[in-house]
Amino acid sequence: MRPFNHLNAASLEEASAALKQPGSLAMAGGGDLLGALKDDIFETYPKLVVNLKTIPGLDGVEVKDGFLCLGALCMLGDLSRNETVQSLAPAVAEAAAKCASPALRENTTLGGNLCQLPRCWYFRKLGNHFDCARKGGGKCFAFNGDNRYHSVFGPAVFNGCDGAKKACLAVNQAELAPVLLALEAQIVTTARTIPIGEFFDCGVLRSTVLEPGEIVTEVRIPLPEKGTKMTYRRFSFRKSIDFPVVNLALVQKPGGEWRIALGGVAPTPRRAEAAETLLAGKALTPELAEAAGKAAVQGAKPTEANAYKLQLVKTLVKRALLSL
Ligand SMILES: Cc1cc2nc3c(=O)[nH]c(=O)nc-3n(C[C@H](O)[C@H](O)[C@H](O)COP(=O)(O)OP(=O)(O)OC[C@H]3O[C@@H](n4cnc5c(N)ncnc54)[C@H](O)[C@@H]3O)c2cc1C
Ligand code: SF4
Repeated sequence: MRPFNHLNAASLEEASAALKQPGSLAMAGGGDLLGALKDDIFETYPKLVVNLKTIPGLDGVEVKDGFLCLGALCMLGDLSRNETVQSLAPAVAEAAAKCASPALRENTTLGGNLCQLPRCWYFRKLGNHFDCARKGGGKCFAFNGDNRYHSVFGPAVFNGCDGAKKACLAVNQAELAPVLLALEAQIVTTARTIPIGEFFDCGVLRSTVLEPGEIVTEVRIPLPEKGTKMTYRRFSFRKSIDFPVVNLALVQKPGGEWRIALGGVAPTPRRAEAAETLLAGKALTPELAEAAGKAAVQGAKPTEANAYKLQLVKTLVKRALLSL
């Protein structure tokens, strides 16, 4: 670890002002960021790390104005055990309970989970060995390299530091992202309220549309109608301390409408709209569940190395549907 300055922010205003300075980074639990600093993966080391956890009042869970409101500094372990979350949005508690490891869940936050940077192994290689497009470098190493964990729905395209268009095949693997997308959550920041479908993005050293100095303060979930059913599923190679290769959430509304959201398959979390349409208003049968699984991967363009993910999605969708 190289030296950097550290600020225990006392308020959102103080944190936001500090984070507008070039070379500063926000830190909540540090589960994502500290590893990146320790492994020295960035070209430029941050001058200042701004600790958000010292800001009071951002770790509550409450029901307010028709929303289940989750503070951005809620620890994932607390979310998984919270009785209000368990009763109103059980799939959120399920996802929080499956993230990372028991120890990490007690120290890492909801906001940090949603804002984490990609886990692509070129991006994370020690000592910035691959200065790839997502870090401001010239190219993506995954296109002609080992892309077995990468996107099956093509790359994200964004403006690089040199102003030229760049592409990135990394996926968003944030544990809580699909379930919050399926529940049509809103992300409240120090500047605005963003529908979750517009929150995730890809760019140089960012995975969201947040501007410099903008901090996530709360996640608001519209209170699900009585009779709504939901579930969360993930596939990982190891049971604990392993990112999901594929994760997904299903929400069935009492009127027969469905929301299905997938993570780990595309640069940003993705709604499976063809599957939602296929299921709408129909009685669920094993045949329909299988057809919905196939519809969930409609339009996929996998590489030879990551085509296995399509079968994972099909099976997870089918099993999740039949479990409801
Ligand atoms: C061994 C290991 C296993 C892991 N397994 C998983 C897993 O299975 N699933 C998974 O999803 N993650 C996993 N993680 C990644 C990480 O621990 C979690 O995603 C965690 O929830 C990140 O939260 P944090 O509070 O520690 O974020 P931090 O590391 O503090 O921050 C992450 C990023 O978000 C930004 N940020 C943090 N809070 C805010 C905010 N309020 N507003 C704006 N920006 C913010 C930071 O600047 C940073 O860029 C794992 C990590 C490790 C080390
Ligand atoms: S997939 Fe993205 S993060 Fe990985 S090497 Fe390519 S540009 Fe970098």
